[in-house]
Amino acid sequence: MNSFLRTVTAAVAVSAALALILTAGGCSRGEETKPTAALAAKPDKINILLLTIDTLRTDHLGCYGNEIVETPEIDRIAAEGARFDFCVAHNTVTLPSHINILTGEDPRTHGVHDNTGFRLKPETVTIAEILHDADYGTGAFVAAFVLDSRYGIDQGFDLYDDYYGINRPGNPLISERPANEVVDPALQWIKGQGDKPWFAWIHVYDPHAPHQVAEPFARKFKDNLYAGEVSFVDLNFGKVFDYLRNSGKIDNTLIIITADHGEGLGDHGEDTHGIFAYNPTLWIPLIIRAPWSIPSGTVVERRVRHIDILPTILDTLAIEVPENKGGESLLAVAKTRAPGNAPDSYFEALSASFNRGWAPLRGVLHDNWKYIDLPLPELYDMAADFQEKSNLIESRAGTAASLRRILSQLREGEDDAFESRITESEETRQRLRNLGYLTGTNVIDKKTHGPHDDPKNLIGLSNRLDKGVSLATAGKWDEAEEVLTALIDEQPDMAIAYKHLAWVYTDSGRPQQAVELMDAAAKRGIGGNETLTGLAMALQEAGESRRSVEILEVIRQDNPDDIEILHYLAMGFGNLGEVAKSEDLFIQVLERDPSFLEARGNLGWLLLDGGREQEAMEQFNIALRQFPYHANSLHGKGLIYERFKRWDDAVAAYREALKADRKRYPAMLQLAIVLTRRGDFTEAIPLLEQFLKEAPAGKYPEERAGAQRLLSRLKQHGQ
Ligand SMILES: [Zn+2]
Repeated sequence: MNSFLRTVTAAVAVSAALALILTAGGCSRGEETKPTAALAAKPDKINILLLTIDTLRTDHLGCYGNEIVETPEIDRIAAEGARFDFCVAHNTVTLPSHINILTGEDPRTHGVHDNTGFRLKPETVTIAEILHDADYGTGAFVAAFVLDSRYGIDQGFDLYDDYYGINRPGNPLISERPANEVVDPALQWIKGQGDKPWFAWIHVYDPHAPHQVAEPFARKFKDNLYAGEVSFVDLNFGKVFDYLRNSGKIDNTLIIITADHGEGLGDHGEDTHGIFAYNPTLWIPLIIRAPWSIPSGTVVERRVRHIDILPTILDTLAIEVPENKGGESLLAVAKTRAPGNAPDSYFEALSASFNRGWAPLRGVLHDNWKYIDLPLPELYDMAADFQEKSNLIESRAGTAASLRRILSQLREGEDDAFESRITESEETRQRLRNLGYLTGTNVIDKKTHGPHDDPKNLIGLSNRLDKGVSLATAGKWDEAEEVLTALIDEQPDMAIAYKHLAWVYTDSGRPQQAVELMDAAAKRGIGGNETLTGLAMALQEAGESRRSVEILEVIRQDNPDDIEILHYLAMGFGNLGEVAKSEDLFIQVLERDPSFLEARGNLGWLLLDGGREQEAMEQFNIALRQFPYHANSLHGKGLIYERFKRWDDAVAAYREALKADRKRYPAMLQLAIVLTRRGDFTEAIPLLEQFLKEAPAGKYPEERAGAQRLLSRLKQHGQ
């Protein structure tokens, strides 16, 4: 992001914060909206529409004072209902934050502290389960891998649509789909509910990095794609609101709009989110439209929380709130606008502690104060300093001490996040030791941390990690290697840097180097199971599937339901030619998660290798119905067509595969071969040249030799 935009962002944030905190009841754009007293009659049946916008900074909505974005649809819903000016999340990463919303609990009780390494326990009750039991149709439509059903977040949904796909053309790294591809099936599902009351949760991911947006937004917001993405989301939400208005359903639908967390955009040195819990990421928008209960134009200044959303929905439907839910209904809060003091709010940001060994960040909001517990602790006055510029930890030592006490009371009885992360039996530990690995958990996980582990002193490393990843994504492997190696030298505990460096080695055709790197890390106990699975994958790439399977079999013991591990194991047995075992494991994975595209595609390839073309075709077709750009399946179909000498179909399938993933080099070669067979040399020659130019030598040695031979023959032929 360039400095001009950062200045604009900061200015907007300042004005929004000042307006929100200092102007009593004022709209941050300066237009006083007076609540109108008239309420609609309460309908018999009330639908619930929950919209969550990933990575949306509160100050990037028009109704919260932003003048760059175009969010007329959301702004209108806010004007017709209540805008909560100080809602806070409890986490600054996606999965825990959505679980907070859906369970009405924070991680102290539901135990999901990060995007990976945790799964929601079946016994934790979600809003979807409660509404399902109350005869609601329940549908979820999520846009990205982080909210995949494999994390247990699908509990209670009749339909959990996580068909976000992978390897989308032009965005090969992140498994996500744009807002229109989430909203369209959601709207179709809502329309199909007929007279039955429904609960629909729609999650969009567009504002999350990398920043890409469709036209005309890309052109219009070329200097601020983030704002363009938010505007694109608004346009798509408008389709849902239009339907509700036109069908007369809007006044019997409770509409809730929020974000899981914000985005740093450079504030406090944080470009994205997840490391800190300052207001750019912890402060989130909350808009509730409930015309039978909340007058239009309501603005609530009092601090509220994500965990209050579940009790608000249940209050609306007069359903009792289950025990252990910590929040309160916001209907009364919205009606009286500022009744009394806000309850305390716990928050945490532990990701960097799990994957980088940094000090864990936890904190509490109490009255006007925000306390952040770190080796270098921080205390801010939210009323006077919403920008968190002056740390009052020394000048207000007494206040800090009392907030520290409140935080430790809030954490009494909480499970140890580090221990709950990977439950590992003594037997597993022993078996890992026999393989030469210290243990599955991160043994470097320090119980005491010093200022050098404080994320404030390490945020630069985080930004460098992001840089290494984007260099690798752009195929600049040497530069990526340099950045990541330097990081590991400085921060040998930074497990996530090993994972990315191993990926650089593998993708650039040096799997043996990936094996050595991950092996050394696992022997020192860095990074736990993720490092061990990374090692197992590198071993498969390096042709050592036997060792890979050995490691996976051990860590599977304590993680029998971890479908990633089962999937890698299936691949390992496949490589070893143990087809029956491999097939059985793929089927187990797909029973647990039918939309696990990689597993489906790989099962197809296993069947194809065994000469079972019809069955393979079925698997590829299922995958392609879920996600039409699935390069692995398109490639597999090409091979099947080739076997049946359906050359035109084969050419078409390979072309589609390459359109979906232009780096799918074996499909490129295969296409050149079929074209040659059809006598289409003029197209085959440049394809072979492209293959030889781009396909990494270390990864495709035989294919390259074959391509070279074919190319020489074609060139001789042409002379
Ligand atoms: Zn998120």
